[in-house]
Amino acid sequence: MGKHTETLRRMGRTSTRGREGILRILEETSIPLSPKDIRERFPEPKPDTATVYRNLSLLSSLGLVRSVALHERCRRYEAAGEGIHRHRVVCRGCGRIEAFQVTTCHLAGIEADIRRRFGFKVTDHSLEFFGSCPECRKKEGAK
Ligand SMILES: [Zn+2]
Ligand SMILES: [Zn+2]
Repeated sequence: MGKHTETLRRMGRTSTRGREGILRILEETSIPLSPKDIRERFPEPKPDTATVYRNLSLLSSLGLVRSVALHERCRRYEAAGEGIHRHRVVCRGCGRIEAFQVTTCHLAGIEADIRRRFGFKVTDHSLEFFGSCPECRKKEGAK
């Protein structure tokens, strides 16, 4: 039994090809993917778009994937498993995304501050930096 099958069963959910496929695809990539990107990476026969959306919403409600808003119309998704901790930088010009693993995240102080001010226990965060990638900077005349 694959590890995704096991995880889904543990949560009382049936493991389907669509659900497992999404988890595998998101784990294989470091940048968050749109539902369209996810569908494109599926081997044939590809699931229909509605199925991809439905499975993404189920997997987010189970906490296995997380949706990320990167100032685009469409949301992107990434794996939300334990030990996966990434920050991202997004180019405002062309939309290029780079994600980087963070070994030491320095946001513990902010999380403590949130707890003090609002009483929230923070379990997770999503951090995006926005800017211009090297190609876009070249086009802009390297500002
Ligand atoms: Zn760019
Ligand atoms: Zn962090």
